[in-house]
Amino acid sequence: KIRVRYAPSPTGHLHIGNARTAIFNYLFARRYQGKFIIRIEDTDTKRNVADGEKSQLDNLKWLGLDWDEGPDVGGDYGPYRQSERQATYQPLIQKLLDEDLAYYSYKTEEELEADREEQKARGVMPHYEYEYAGMTPAEQAAAVTAAKAKGLKPVIRFRVPKQRTYEWDDMVKGHVSFDSDTIGGDFVIVKRDGMPTYNFAVVADDHNMQISHIFRGDDHVANTPKQLMIYEAFGWEPPKFGHMSLIVSADTGKKLSKRDETVLQFIEQYRELGYLPEALFNFIVLLGWSPVGEDELFTQKQVIKMYNEKRLSKSPATFDGKKLEWINNQYVKNSDEDVIVDLALQQLIKAGNLPADPDAPTIEWARKLIDVYRRQMSYMAQINEMAAGFFTEPEQISGATLAEIQNDTAPIVLHTFRDKIQKLPIFDKTAILQTIKAVQQETGIRGRKLWMPIRIAVSHEMEGPELPESIELIGREQTMQHLQETLD
Ligand code: GLU
Repeated sequence: KIRVRYAPSPTGHLHIGNARTAIFNYLFARRYQGKFIIRIEDTDTKRNVADGEKSQLDNLKWLGLDWDEGPDVGGDYGPYRQSERQATYQPLIQKLLDEDLAYYSYKTEEELEADREEQKARGVMPHYEYEYAGMTPAEQAAAVTAAKAKGLKPVIRFRVPKQRTYEWDDMVKGHVSFDSDTIGGDFVIVKRDGMPTYNFAVVADDHNMQISHIFRGDDHVANTPKQLMIYEAFGWEPPKFGHMSLIVSADTGKKLSKRDETVLQFIEQYRELGYLPEALFNFIVLLGWSPVGEDELFTQKQVIKMYNEKRLSKSPATFDGKKLEWINNQYVKNSDEDVIVDLALQQLIKAGNLPADPDAPTIEWARKLIDVYRRQMSYMAQINEMAAGFFTEPEQISGATLAEIQNDTAPIVLHTFRDKIQKLPIFDKTAILQTIKAVQQETGIRGRKLWMPIRIAVSHEMEGPELPESIELIGREQTMQHLQETLD
């Protein structure tokens, strides 16, 4: 039975790397008719943020994921928050203590820090130095009593087996092995505040929830031998592990860092800018995975059909914002018009370029505006920039632009155009195009000499969308006013 999980810590918004982890677990479950589970790893209480869980779940849903079990939908293996699973950890910890596979450790943070300093000075890898080394059981008991008397709070450490090799066949990286003497010594499984650590809780939960496969970030590779030791201590069979490659920035070639503000890394940010969830999903799927063949655009359904975890790449995945824009533009072009218009309207409203009232007469105008730019947009917030000229009074005509209309023919074109356009019963792009053609017939002036003076007079720019559309959007009143000003 295939059961996989995504186990976020609610320490912030959904990061693109975490979204990728969630998606690859999800695809694996859906491809092989397994179960996809969400478990919230919230034992690091200091790092939890309010709404962290909600934001994670909301953004996963927005990306098109759904889950069979989780904190919001329940399931047979709950609770799905680690903070609510304390009761399941206690007996397990007790068992390790009883079998002397774990023990109370009273070294203070200061002592541990002093050890590390001293180890650094000696040039050895920092590690926990066993505090009861060489003591008889009676001496050890005395040391514990003394520490308790001082009111010291202990942690519980797991006794790391000596001179052992811990290895696994990683579904992504291939064979991986660790020497138990190099992992930093007996590690903490229960913190001073009584909370289990990640390495312990993750094993207890994955076992109790019958997780069969785990896909997670490369940064967890060094945790895996520790987790294997705990599986071994309980005599449990570990799941299969797959550690996905790092994500590096296309610009710097370095690991994507949450601190690098030049790269948007949170799903929320893309959502805010009006990216399409299907496009983002498509883009993320390509971070470290590739299908057979050249095609790079596919729906979630299609990916599920062709997903094969053997095609997860060992080498770092490149995060390329340009590629994301390209993919999103492809989706924008192929999306239902209403969806695009809706998203773009939201962006116009958010930027203050449109009143929020859905009944405002300008909404119809905005629909036409969006239609003009629809196919060029990579993400919807771009409408504000692309159409900026329609939201403000244009600057005075000057320089090269002015030179374009300082000739003999421009006034003729503009006069004729103004007289005709004034009389138009319907002011729309079709009628405007007819009018421009009529000006050509009447004056015999064509091409750039015909179009450019009109464009410049009306918009004060030499470039813009199709002229009839532009003029329709600028509107009758402003068009007339601008023509008049240019002619004066
Ligand atoms: N809570 C861990 C994290 O956010 C989960 C790691 C795992 O999948 O084991 O990285």
